[in-house]
Amino acid sequence: MLGLIMDQPLLISSLLTHAARNHGDTEIVSRTVEGGIHRYTYADAELRARKLAAALARLGVAPGDRVASLAWNGYRHFELYYAVSGAGAVMHTVNPRLFPDQIAYIINHAEDKLLFVDLTFVPLVEKLAPVCKALKGVVVMTDRAHMPPSLPDALCFEELVAAETGGFEWPVFDERTASSLCYTSGTTGNPKGVLYSHRSTVIHSYAIVSPDVFNLSSRDCVLPVVPMFHVNAWGLPYAAPLAGTKIVFPGAQLDGASLYELYEQEGVTATAGVPTVWLALLNHMKQNKLKFSTLDRAVVGGSACPPAMIKSFAEDFNVRCQHAWGMSEMSPLGTFCTLKGKHLALPKDQQFEVLTSQGRALYGVEMKIVDGEGKPLPHDGKAFGDLLVRGPWITSGYFKDEGGNPLRDGWFPTGDVATIDADGYMRITDRSKDVIKSGGEWISSIDLENAVMAHPAVGEAAVIGIAHPKWDERPLLIVVKKPGAEVTREELLKFYEGRVAKWWIPDDVVFVEALPHTATGKLLKLKLREEFKHHQLPAA
Ligand code: ADP
Repeated sequence: MLGLIMDQPLLISSLLTHAARNHGDTEIVSRTVEGGIHRYTYADAELRARKLAAALARLGVAPGDRVASLAWNGYRHFELYYAVSGAGAVMHTVNPRLFPDQIAYIINHAEDKLLFVDLTFVPLVEKLAPVCKALKGVVVMTDRAHMPPSLPDALCFEELVAAETGGFEWPVFDERTASSLCYTSGTTGNPKGVLYSHRSTVIHSYAIVSPDVFNLSSRDCVLPVVPMFHVNAWGLPYAAPLAGTKIVFPGAQLDGASLYELYEQEGVTATAGVPTVWLALLNHMKQNKLKFSTLDRAVVGGSACPPAMIKSFAEDFNVRCQHAWGMSEMSPLGTFCTLKGKHLALPKDQQFEVLTSQGRALYGVEMKIVDGEGKPLPHDGKAFGDLLVRGPWITSGYFKDEGGNPLRDGWFPTGDVATIDADGYMRITDRSKDVIKSGGEWISSIDLENAVMAHPAVGEAAVIGIAHPKWDERPLLIVVKKPGAEVTREELLKFYEGRVAKWWIPDDVVFVEALPHTATGKLLKLKLREEFKHHQLPAA
């Protein structure tokens, strides 16, 4: 027997129409690429998104067509998100930090019909346009006065919007329709497209506004530092309208000073980003002896959050630093870390221990860890193995079946190695390819990085495995010192004593000026392994 409840499809357009109707005067504030601050409301955004959707149809964009963007977090990008998906086409966000060859590959693979770009990326588009065959046109996300002379055939975003009356109505269609496309950074092989649906996006939005996740409400103001050009800024451009949350888009200026100014000026309560962004922000704050007046929580994900960062947010700035984990294939949120009621009576250091984990699964995400043979391992906080996930916002296969079926018995292998404890808290011990295999045992490179990050002279750290004749691999610590700080190899090795098992302590330390990062802010260990391939360990 079926229930007698309306079968209304979960469509992305409904998130924005809800916000326009119920939070019509709530603001969306953007730092623009042209310079200055732009300020309007959900009601304004919804009307302009409908006008833009009408313009897309006029330009020949049909349901299912891919429309690409190369853009920062800003109000026009937000309108494009809703116009493209709302009309039944596919919003393909492209990461401008990838190499131009990779970008061209991705645009060609997706067969994008139109490309929307911020002014910043005009020089990039000049190179891309001739090699992107399916592209029918480029739209520059600006007004007539700022149109670049170097792209004479490009269309002007503001002119497209101004030419429409606003009579367009959001179409209703199957909620399983593809809504947006994001390519994984792909450290091996070609980038692969993750294709989200309206249904997965709306359910993910419901889940991430909940109290033990972003806890977004109509009293909040959220500033996503995480880019809209990669995994939909962790879903915040969808979740904020659902909750009626004020949004602040930081545009291209992601340095500490620019972010701090927006936090203070706009009354931001919640923010989200990768550890490298927070490192820069906290350094700026400390150097200038600044405090936050409204910021309540900072969500950290994309890479392991060093415990020292969680501590600094809390103790120096009275901000809750919340650890989250996910991946492009997971829309992206999988786990989020908050304390349970039973933890509240614990001493601070034990609470802190919980808060350094990657957190508990959101409702909608099932997790399991398995050994080399695929046998499930206990959730005892000790056993670690390959982490597998499944759920209604997790990928079932890549766009155009690239790479074949990624699933194992209906589960998606994350490529992460983790423990899960009896309370459901998950701890990533490593990427499966980064784990250091020493004498048949595994050493967690992340644990070694986290431990040394607590040293006051260490700005950033990476640990990689170096080939060893006896042990197979041994850890090498690579360190960037904080500006002006001094520390020796011996001091750092000594610092590990009592913090990690003796046999985990790295065999050597190298000091470098900077560490390489991927386009999404992760340590590029592949490059480090290549660079230090011939490094001679002292004991080897
Ligand atoms: P995204 O595309 O969201 O950057 P990717 O799909 O490129 O994510 O990479 C996801 C991977 O990033 C995860 O599988 C994991 O290895 C790593 N990661 C993400 N968040 C965390 C975290 N909080 N701690 C440790 N690793 C993380």
